[in-house]
Amino acid sequence: MPKKNLKILYVSSEVVPFAKTGGLADVSSALPKQLKQLGHDVRVVMPKYGTIPEVKYKLREVIRLRQIDIPLNGQIHTVAIKSAFIPDSKVQVYFVDHPKSFKRKDLYVDPRTKKDYKDNDFRFFLFSRSVLEFARTLAWQPDIIHCNDWQTCAIPLYLNTLYSKDDFFNGTKTILSLHNVGYQGNFPPSAVKVGDLPDKLFKPLSPIEFHDNFSFMKAGVSYADVITTVSEKYAHEIQSDPEYGFGMEGVLHNRKKDLYGILNGIDDTIWNPEKDSLIAHNFNPQDLEGKEENKKALLERFDLEYNPDIPVIGIISRLADQKGFDLISEVLNKIAALDVQMVILGTGAKKYHTLFNKAAKKYPNKISVQLTFNNQLAHQIEAGCDLFLMPSRYEPCGLNQMYSFMYGTVPIVRSTGGLADTVVDIDKNSKDGTGFVFQKYDASEMLDAIKRALKLYQDRDKWQKLQIRGMNQDFSWRTSAKKYVEIYELALRK
Ligand code: ADP
Repeated sequence: MPKKNLKILYVSSEVVPFAKTGGLADVSSALPKQLKQLGHDVRVVMPKYGTIPEVKYKLREVIRLRQIDIPLNGQIHTVAIKSAFIPDSKVQVYFVDHPKSFKRKDLYVDPRTKKDYKDNDFRFFLFSRSVLEFARTLAWQPDIIHCNDWQTCAIPLYLNTLYSKDDFFNGTKTILSLHNVGYQGNFPPSAVKVGDLPDKLFKPLSPIEFHDNFSFMKAGVSYADVITTVSEKYAHEIQSDPEYGFGMEGVLHNRKKDLYGILNGIDDTIWNPEKDSLIAHNFNPQDLEGKEENKKALLERFDLEYNPDIPVIGIISRLADQKGFDLISEVLNKIAALDVQMVILGTGAKKYHTLFNKAAKKYPNKISVQLTFNNQLAHQIEAGCDLFLMPSRYEPCGLNQMYSFMYGTVPIVRSTGGLADTVVDIDKNSKDGTGFVFQKYDASEMLDAIKRALKLYQDRDKWQKLQIRGMNQDFSWRTSAKKYVEIYELALRK
């Protein structure tokens, strides 16, 4: 018999709307909300970054949790736990407040040097251990601790080492969700001491050793009771191919029986063209006129001239190699020679800032860029573009192609990970096609897909059918959240 109301502690280093660098933040808000709706007692824990406005989000002190001592790196560190709710929900979020570690301008990267903070190992050991000590202080025994990405991997590690004889967590199982295997949290061996771990645990091929370094992700994958990743295709890719597994494929393959792919959903209270307050005009599949108004508003915002016959391609992305910008770079002049306009929103690697700044200067009537992080603009691009480009080298799930569907914006994607699982090529399947898909990581294949899209755009009838088919799909969290509950129950039976 499945247990009815599970106590789920959902742990993440980013949660919308408090802190976000990518899709992890969207998931860490939407999934707990849906789990709550299914009747579970779900609570979220994240770090209290300096960028989180306490007044705006009504963060409060919790009297019992004002001072918790965390032993680490041979010292005692005192943290406080604050609490708030995810807006418009009953999901309680606890914030681990340790100003020395988290009161900084950015989440992981020092904006001055553009390099990872040097003490990221300490910061996320502290965060993980605080989660365990906080649950104990609150006397709230979770059935499940749901960890996300390397920043939380020390939780299953601690539960199997320093806390293995701790009765409080006897009934607790851990789930680790991997949102991107490209970010593994690998540190020099000195991290073993930083994390207060026994020296003898660090030896060749041990659960924490990875190519002579300490690896958070390897530890998490080795010790979590169940592992999930964010699409079925990616679950296979990361076990079988170094391009996707980044060296972790053997470790992941060893856990094959406990590794599941569950596609992310989208939060349709936030990403919904009918209700979205961040866009110029609301619209729905029955009435796409408002979409054209959004296109006009978007082009004005990006200083480009509106022409109903010229399709606009949007990009919203971290400017990272993963996202396929080398392909775009290779053929950007050729794209600019087509009858098309492009708007780009992104921030990240300097070389791509340079690339897009130059392109915008060279093609002022065709290409316009905003090299920043701006949530409102992201909504406006989804609403106002005709096409959305995601030529990723790898893509664990990808959210923007699903947001694009909801807003009648047709995705052009490379067939990898979650993109392969969500977009059906219209030229291969005229009945069920929802977008344009290319297979090889190759610039001319991408350019062909763009040209196919521009051609179909001129056939307004077919184009609208394609848009509406995309909009009518159901990518809500309702289905995926139930799959997570099945995984929790499976873990508890172990
Ligand atoms: P990843 O997590 O690899 O960055 P996803 O597609 O899963 O990719 O999620 C990216 C999320 O971050 C989406 O919600 C997207 O809209 C958002 N995003 C990315 N870059 C920006 C930006 N520059 N401004 C606003 N939102 C952004």
